[in-house]
Amino acid sequence: MDINAVLKERQKWFEWKNIKPIHLKLEKFKNENLKVKNIKIDDVIEILIEENQEKLNEIEEIAKMMKPWRKGPFKINDLFIDTEWRSYIKWNIIKPYLNLENKDVLDVGCNNGYYMFRMLEMNPKSITGFDPSALFNLQFEFINKFIKSNIEYKLLGVEHIPFYEKKFDTIFCLGVLYHRPDPVTMLKELKAGLNPNSEVILDTLIIEGEEETALCPVRYQKMKNVYFIPTLKALYNWIEKAKFKDIEFIGKKYTDLEEQRKTEWIEGESLNNFLTEDLSKTIEGYPPPLRVYLKLKN
Ligand code: SAH
Repeated sequence: MDINAVLKERQKWFEWKNIKPIHLKLEKFKNENLKVKNIKIDDVIEILIEENQEKLNEIEEIAKMMKPWRKGPFKINDLFIDTEWRSYIKWNIIKPYLNLENKDVLDVGCNNGYYMFRMLEMNPKSITGFDPSALFNLQFEFINKFIKSNIEYKLLGVEHIPFYEKKFDTIFCLGVLYHRPDPVTMLKELKAGLNPNSEVILDTLIIEGEEETALCPVRYQKMKNVYFIPTLKALYNWIEKAKFKDIEFIGKKYTDLEEQRKTEWIEGESLNNFLTEDLSKTIEGYPPPLRVYLKLKN
C-alpha cells in the first residue's frame, strides 16, 4: 500500500462541505501572530494568551465551529472547552505505567490529540498521531497553534500501520478495538508497527464473565460501529493469537457520568441517553460499558 498516495487522496477530505469552511478559517488563523503567555498541560490543558477581545472572540468562534468536541478538556483564557469526555480519567489510570523517555510513540485513534499533548512532559523522542477524521485533525491543528509542539498528525487508521515507514517503541491504541470488524487482525497490525522490546497500551470494552466469548451486537449504546466486546479471557486469546509475548493488566473501570456526559460542546446525546435510567444496562439491554487497560509486550 502506498501511504503517500493515501495521504494525498485524504487531503481532499478538507474540501468536504462541512469541513471546508472550518479548514479555510483555520488556515488563516494559523498564519496569525499570537502572543502565547503560558501553557499548562494538566488534567485541563490550559492556554493563556495576551490578546484583545476581538481576537478572543475569533478564537471562540473557531472552537464552536469545530463541534463536537469529544476529548479534552481544554481552556483558552476564559473559554472552557468542556468536552463530552473527561479524558484525564483514562489518562490517570495508564500514566503510572508509562515510560516514554526518548521513545518513538504512536497514538492510533488519537482524536484531537489530548493524550499526545499530555505525553509531551514525558520527553519522548517523537510523537505521531493517526486518526482518519478531518474534523479531529483540525481540532488538533487549532490547539497545536498555541502549544506549537512538533507532534505529527496523519489522517490514517490502524490498518495503515504495517505499511507506514516508521516503527514505534510505544503504540497507544485506546478505544478503537471494538470499532474494528476483525480484532485479531487489528492486534496484528499494531504488532507490525513495533520495534523489538516495545509495547502497546490498549484500552477496550469488555464484558464480565469466565467464558471465552464475545458479545457481537448490531448496536451497542446506540453505536452502529461496534463489532465485538469480549470477556477478558477472550481478549487474552486474541492477543495470544496476535503473538504478543506477555500481557500486563493495568486496570478496569466502568464508564460513569463523571467521565462521559452531555455538554454544550457536543450536539446530541451522551452516556445518560445510552443507558437505562438506573444505569445498569445499555439501552439495548447489554451490560454497561466496562473498559480494560492493558500493556501488551512485544
Ligand atoms: N483514543 C481516544 C479516542 C477514542 S474514540 C480515547 O481513547 O479517548 C475512537 C477514535 O478512533 C475516533 O477519534 C475515530 O476517529 C478513530 N478511528 C476511527 N476509525 C479508525 C481507524 N480505522 N483507525 C484508527 N482510529 C480510528
